[in-house]
Amino acid sequence: MKIAVLPGDGIGTEIVAEAVKVLQVLDLKFEMETAPVGGAAYEAAGHPLPDATLNLAKASDAILFGAVGDWKYDKLERALRPEQAILGLRKHLGLYANFRPAICYEELVGASSLKPELIAGLDILIVRELTGDIYFGQPRGRRTAVDGHFPGAEEAFDTMRYSRPEIERIAHTAFQAARKRNKKVTSVDKANVLETFQFWKDVVTEVHKDYPDVELSHMYVDNAAMQLVKAPKSFDVIVTGNMFGDILSDEAAMLTGSIGMLPSASLNSKNQGLYEPSHGSAPDIAGKGVANPLATILSAAMMLRFSLNQATAADRIESAVKRVLASGLRTADIWSAGTTKVGTREMGDAVVAAITKTKG
Ligand code: NAD
Repeated sequence: MKIAVLPGDGIGTEIVAEAVKVLQVLDLKFEMETAPVGGAAYEAAGHPLPDATLNLAKASDAILFGAVGDWKYDKLERALRPEQAILGLRKHLGLYANFRPAICYEELVGASSLKPELIAGLDILIVRELTGDIYFGQPRGRRTAVDGHFPGAEEAFDTMRYSRPEIERIAHTAFQAARKRNKKVTSVDKANVLETFQFWKDVVTEVHKDYPDVELSHMYVDNAAMQLVKAPKSFDVIVTGNMFGDILSDEAAMLTGSIGMLPSASLNSKNQGLYEPSHGSAPDIAGKGVANPLATILSAAMMLRFSLNQATAADRIESAVKRVLASGLRTADIWSAGTTKVGTREMGDAVVAAITKTKG
């Protein structure tokens, strides 16, 4: 088993170091190899996703990814910006299924901006299609408008598109995930306005015939955004396209108190996966040793479960995280009165210690 470790930029290096520490204490047999990605790779090799990094990722069973990006790269041409690395990895590895669980830990109920009764016990899963939609659709670009409200004016355009197989495979992924949970799928679309999402809705409905034991409902994205803050516990699995999923999963992240708590997995059809926290490189707190490493540590647990077939080790990490939270340790983003504030490294050390304690 081989893991490509791509820390990236900003807090990426700090949080990935903690996840690596946790993986090392598990006594599992795998090889880890580190490579630069994002801004760090641009500095080192002139490209955010150099061939050496891409080849390492392709040759690995799983990728542990930190985060990429920094405002200082905003002036670079788009193809050289750090964020292109993540799009490139998704595309080259065919990582079409993104899983973002949003779980509200009992101890963190107070960290959410919503009323405790709305989010206590929250456990939802957003399944986001990751390689299609308006983020990848061609053509795109800038041109002179030939029609519309201002013919002759400069305009920009993107293309929203989904093919039947793309929708079918993500729908199967969502229904199969729901079977292991509460057997409810909400497909989020904008079928009332967009042709692409009427098609999405039709295809999801067809695929649902294979899963009579799973309940399917459809919801427009604007309503879904509202329901996520009004009654988040009414959802089990949400399946949606790339752009809507991008927005809704960040909204769901905040329900749980901090984006620093949320892991994610992006898988291809061979279960090869990229595992990363749901947040970005947080340049505002980079280098200060205060970032919450738990989303990355929990991403490493998802990696063990989904790509490396090590469910017991994944359980050990997740239960260690719960025990550390129960002991009252908090990084600044989830701190509240009466708990103990710790930095990135101390939080990682505490998870390692909690795992070590369960060894014997
Ligand atoms: P961000 O997620 O990096 O930060 C948003 C806010 O959350 C900041 O206040 C930050 O301090 C805080 N935060 C994020 N992670 C945290 C953690 N682990 N612990 C404590 N606080 C945390 O989003 P942003 O500020 O919009 O973007 C910063 C950079 O990250 C940009 O260059 C953006 O393009 C990039 N980005 C990368 C990814 C990725 O690598 N997958 C995803 C999103 C954004």
